Amino acid sequence: MTLAKIAVIGAGMAGLSLANALQPYAQVSVFEKSRGLGGRMATRRRPECTFDHGAQYFTIRDAGFHAALEGAIEAGTVQAWNAPLMKTGAYGTSERLQDRAPRFVAAPGMTSLAKLMARKLDVQCDQRIEALEGQKGAWFLITPQARLGPFDWVISTAPAPQTLALLPLSEPDAEALSGVRINGCFTLMIHLPDAADLPFSASQIDHPVLSWISANQSKPERDPAHCIVVHANNRWSDAHLEDEPEAVRALMLDTVRDLVPSVAWETALSVDLHRWRYANVETPLGRPFLMDRDLQIAACGDWCLGNRVEAAFLSGKALAETLMARFKEERS
Ligand SMILES: Cc1cc2nc3c(=O)[nH]c(=O)nc-3n(C[C@H](O)[C@H](O)[C@H](O)COP(=O)(O)OP(=O)(O)OC[C@H]3O[C@@H](n4cnc5c(N)ncnc54)[C@H](O)[C@@H]3O)c2cc1C
Repeated sequence: MTLAKIAVIGAGMAGLSLANALQPYAQVSVFEKSRGLGGRMATRRRPECTFDHGAQYFTIRDAGFHAALEGAIEAGTVQAWNAPLMKTGAYGTSERLQDRAPRFVAAPGMTSLAKLMARKLDVQCDQRIEALEGQKGAWFLITPQARLGPFDWVISTAPAPQTLALLPLSEPDAEALSGVRINGCFTLMIHLPDAADLPFSASQIDHPVLSWISANQSKPERDPAHCIVVHANNRWSDAHLEDEPEAVRALMLDTVRDLVPSVAWETALSVDLHRWRYANVETPLGRPFLMDRDLQIAACGDWCLGNRVEAAFLSGKALAETLMARFKEERS
């Protein structure tokens, strides 16, 4: 019996966990619009420094997630990040936070885990899927250069608003997806000279403009260069999403200066800004995935269950299990 041909849109944690689980039961191809893998588990490389400018770390609470990561932990691609976590108040006061769960990172950069997960998969980068054509059992993916297919199933792992624009969803599914809310986030990446450094490794920030500052080099296997990652508050980011990047950069930098005055920020070697239009899930779907069995289209991602790398994994895994059960049933 021929295996079902499945197109997965997106090579982040959800897409890669889904594709890995489905691989023995189907012919899976993953299409990613970016040059690299990992989605919001992202690493920006500069000649002398690197920044994890998306997800900062992840937790491993679920036994299935732990089992899936065992090989990566053994290989050292996933390591604990034991640096103390602080909380900084709006007036610069800092206190140590009690760790609620161990924090893990991929090494040497957040994208390293995606690269490992993609090793045995057919993943095609630089493939922006702009539309879907066809019908159940014969779907085609439209990119600026090509018409890819046919595929029996198409699964989108793009953030909810992008999935909504892409898939021909039924009215109830489209309505459910419209209720998902994902906040934006601005990220500053600051390269400091060796003489300057943060007085802590990582800190949540309780402030109307900023929410996080960390020293990337405090994570395992990073470059020793002083690479500081600063996230803006989600609410503030949403309100300023369309502002001039230069104005956002200046305001974030001024706020960092006020909050951590002991650092000579004016000596920074570079300051880059990144805008995440869809960063953190505020209102999830509330179920692990969306699936239209009649049309043979589906969607999964962190936005189904919550705002975490682990949620993205669990969503991909849940959809894969349901599809595998269906493929086994069709075979018997
Ligand atoms: C600034 C920031 C900080 C965060 N901090 C943390 C944290 O500390 N801990 C934590 O657990 N989580 C954190 N997160 C959330 C975490 O990164 C996500 O929950 C998780 O990575 C989502 O994985 P995903 O596969 O669902 O989605 P994504 O990683 O977004 O993957 C979707 C992929 O689809 C691709 N794509 C989209 N549209 C198309 C298209 N049309 N054609 C082809 N490809 C397409 C995208 O390029 C992307 O690679 C953070 C996120 C951000 C942005």
